Amino acid sequence: MALPEHVDYVVIGAGIHGLSAAWRLAERLVEKGKTADGRVVVLDKSGIASGATGIACGVVRNNYFQPAMRNLMAHSVGVWESDPEAFSYHPVGYMQISCEAMRKDVAQIYAEQKAIGYESEFIEGANASTSYMRGFFSDWQAQGITSVLHEKRGGYANNTKSMYGLAKKVEDLGVRIISGIEVKGFKTENGSAAVQAVETDKGDISCQHVIVGAGPWVRDFWNMLDLPQTIDVHSPNGEVHKDVDMWRFWQLEEGVLQVDPEMMMTNDGKMPPVIHVDTDAPLMSDEDGSLITDQMWGIYYKPDWHFGGIQGGAAPYKVETPAQQVAIDPYGPSSPEFVSGPEFAHMWVSALAHCQKRFEGTMPKYHREPSGGIGCFTPDSFPVFDHFNENVAVIADSNHGYKMLGVGRLVADEVMGQEQDLLKPFRLNRFETGELHPTSNSPFPWS
Ligand SMILES: Cc1cc2nc3c(=O)[nH]c(=O)nc-3n(C[C@H](O)[C@H](O)[C@H](O)COP(=O)(O)OP(=O)(O)OC[C@H]3O[C@@H](n4cnc5c(N)ncnc54)[C@H](O)[C@@H]3O)c2cc1C
Repeated sequence: MALPEHVDYVVIGAGIHGLSAAWRLAERLVEKGKTADGRVVVLDKSGIASGATGIACGVVRNNYFQPAMRNLMAHSVGVWESDPEAFSYHPVGYMQISCEAMRKDVAQIYAEQKAIGYESEFIEGANASTSYMRGFFSDWQAQGITSVLHEKRGGYANNTKSMYGLAKKVEDLGVRIISGIEVKGFKTENGSAAVQAVETDKGDISCQHVIVGAGPWVRDFWNMLDLPQTIDVHSPNGEVHKDVDMWRFWQLEEGVLQVDPEMMMTNDGKMPPVIHVDTDAPLMSDEDGSLITDQMWGIYYKPDWHFGGIQGGAAPYKVETPAQQVAIDPYGPSSPEFVSGPEFAHMWVSALAHCQKRFEGTMPKYHREPSGGIGCFTPDSFPVFDHFNENVAVIADSNHGYKMLGVGRLVADEVMGQEQDLLKPFRLNRFETGELHPTSNSPFPWS
């Protein structure tokens, strides 16, 4: 099929955000008695879910310390719940299991979840936490745990399956998803910053609006839009950090223990919630008993039939290469540079065994294929959802985003002229005004 010469809306990226945005744009057009056919296209240099979305663990949760993140996540969980079958979504819930250093933060999250009507339960104290966990898993043995936040909503979705479900919704409404087409730049109108056409390796497409949902490739689109590579960051206390890099990359460490996923069922044979443990209890090797770390560590895991075992990850690490020089392609497990290594496997499986006796001695079952991938983070590690150059919306989720199925929809509503309160705390100018999000004691940059 020939490349269209003109459409109203060009969406770049067929990951979770691009497809979610296209879905809402199409719905809005249909509501107005129009069709998305010939008006909305999604362009992807590879294909549906070929970026971060297609390698995500797929966890959907709401234990955020930042009120704005919590409100946004509650909205997105609602979108997941709207069609679990199409989204291959498993509403099994989520548990944040923490040591004393995090108890106060998590108690606050619980109180604020209650205030917005997001159903969860909070268990405090070492004995109460252990006995709560043993109610699910009789072999629970994690040390140093003094609280459990059990979110009754959330869970996980199968990363690519859910995107094919979403793509079907999008295409059924008339949107064309074009794979294998690479965006190279933007043409602007004379005397204006507005994008008049999107330049691709297959030709130009003129348009009225552009939505960029490019995941880790946001760095490249930022450059194409001539946006600043460094910014000043004003802290809430008035301190100013000059010339901070706009982007930095972190490596997400994930892997699979190739055992029967049934191995993780609860005492009464049910699907367990997604388990996330953060603790400062010393972590010993399950192989030789040596100390792996006596610093705070964290892991998450779930039984996963799509990955074929127990799938999960640990805290990411910073990529030290300057952001402009990071080789994003080939991405994910195909990267020669950014994949989870043997130290991750050793740490993660030892941590599983630290938490549950059933995982002791399972190290040989770790799937030794490359896994994981990089994410592109903002200066405060929270998303930037904003509009630039008059007609370009950028969805830069700072790697929070598989769970954010609702964000593209909100951005599409903004592009259609309705500003969204849920998105306002995520504008770029927060770095100038000092209205930054509060930070917690979690070892993860995304909590
Ligand atoms: C290992 C790992 C595990 C994760 N686990 C979770 C999790 O459990 N829960 C969670 O909420 N989040 C998770 N995340 C984060 C989440 O996956 C991302 O935040 C989210 O998927 C980003 O979605 P996106 O649509 O912005 O980008 P992507 O899914 O990366 O999609 C961007 C698309 O843009 C295309 N593209 C790039 N450049 C061009 C170009 N020049 N022209 C045309 N197309 C282009 C790419 O091909 C790609 O398909 C994880 C991330 C990683 C790396």
